[in-house]
This record gives sequence, C-alpha cells and structure tokens, in this order.
Amino acid sequence: ASKKKRPPTVWLHFQECTGCTESLLRASHPDVARLILDLISVDYHETLLAAAGTQAEELLTSTIEENKGKFICIVEGGIPTKDGGIYCKIGGKTALEIINEVAPKSAAVIAIGSCAAFGGIQAANPNPTGAKGVSDIINSVPIINCPGCPPNPIAFLGTVLHYLTFGRLPATDKLGRPLFAYGRRIHDHCERRPHFDDGRFVEEFGDCAHKNGYCLYKVGCKGPETFSHCPSVRFNDVGVWPVSVGHGCVGCTEPNFWDTMTPFYER
Ligand code: SF4
Ligand code: SF4
Repeated sequence: ASKKKRPPTVWLHFQECTGCTESLLRASHPDVARLILDLISVDYHETLLAAAGTQAEELLTSTIEENKGKFICIVEGGIPTKDGGIYCKIGGKTALEIINEVAPKSAAVIAIGSCAAFGGIQAANPNPTGAKGVSDIINSVPIINCPGCPPNPIAFLGTVLHYLTFGRLPATDKLGRPLFAYGRRIHDHCERRPHFDDGRFVEEFGDCAHKNGYCLYKVGCKGPETFSHCPSVRFNDVGVWPVSVGHGCVGCTEPNFWDTMTPFYER
C-alpha cells in the first residue's frame, strides 16, 4: 500500500438502483479492492460498509468533521426535492438534508451516474418526486459529473486517479463531464460507422443486416447525439459494449436522456 495518506472518501447513496456501484465492483484497472484499500480510503459507503445503523451514522459524522475541506464526496443517486424531499430518507434524514450537510464540507464532489449528475430515470417527465442532480443543489464546491447508466467505471476511476495524481479534477465540458471520457461522440468511434457512411442499415432487429453487424441508426441508435468513450474503452475487459452486441446506444450519458432520447427502439 502507498505510504502517502489516502484521501478520505464518503460515498452517499440516494435515489438510485446501485448499478453504478455494481459496475465499479467489476472494474479491473484498478480493481475495486486496490481502489478502496490502497488508493483512497472509503470511510463510508452504504453498500460496502460492515457497520450499520447508529454506528454507520457516527462514522459518516466523524469522517466529515475530522476531514473538513479534505474529503472527496462521491454521490450515487438523484436527490428528490419535492414536498421537502420526503421521498428518500436515510437514518431519518432526507437526501436533501444530507447533501446540504455533507457536500459543502468536502474538497470536491464526484457525481457518479446519470442519477447524481442529472436526476436520473426518476426525473423523467413528470418527475413526481422533483429529482435533481447534485449540481442543481450544491454550488459551493467543485463538482464533476460522470454520467451514464451506469457509467463506464473507467470514467470514474480516471477522474479519481487524476485527482490523486495532480491534486485537482480533470478538465471538463460545459456539463461538468471529464473531457478524457466524454469529449468525443460515440458515433465518431463506432465500429459500425463504415456501414452508416455506406448506407447499410439494420431495418428490423433480427434481420439479415442485424446479423451482418450493420449500422443501428434506423432502429434507434443515439450514438450520433451522445458523448462517451464506450466504443474505445469497451466494458470491463470483456471487449464488448452495447452497440458491438447489436443494441443501439440509448444516450445514457446525456442530460434528460430518459425524455430526450426516447423511444429507444424505433422498430
Ligand atoms: Fe442505477 Fe443508472 Fe442511477 Fe447508476 S445512473 S444508480 S445505474 S439508475
Ligand atoms: Fe453511429 Fe449508432 Fe450506427 Fe454506430 S450504430 S455508426 S453509433 S448510428
């Protein structure tokens, strides 16, 4: 393990499915054990924590108080704001109360997943709980967004490793997304692009064109409107990503994709 003191980290879970954590658990460069045992000190993470109840709540409070202005706050999940935020409560407090208590005392916030970045699926029209992303609520500390549903773990891990190496967050686009991961369009790096350029399209799922690996644009692929590194880094060392296995991109790294990118399937 590194002799340098590992930066303390708290990981808050709000309105979400834990898919981002699940995706990260399958990462391998570095794997999650090296991340949380050698690189950062994950002092509070509801999915990975051995402690529960009062013990867990005390751990959160003490980590924040002992590391004011120094800890990284990672947020997974949207924050419901309607009706005083009653739609998500942990230990008797609303997500809204917790984020307002914890995030301003951190050195920086990393919003992992489209829930924490932009409100998530629960924010889909008519957004019954008033779900919002962290940057709609907090503006006193730097916030970086690693959207995706779930995001590729490399977007998150690259952000953390950049912060550990340089002591600052990586350069971002206007949506707060790190450029190294979200600076390019899916469509510009897709292996099906030659088929798009030559007009060879899948017309229906399961047709001959689909079996031949042609472009998925006509059946709903949102790659031309979506920024992410999925085609280059693929997923979790198995070498695939949705488009490579015959499913169009659903645009999950873009704000409000649940409303703006639907219908996901055009045929
Ligand atoms: Fe789950 Fe998607 Fe939200 Fe991540 S962004 S917690 S995968 S719903
Ligand atoms: Fe673009 Fe999607 Fe066709 Fe790939 S499959 S070339 S991302 S439209």
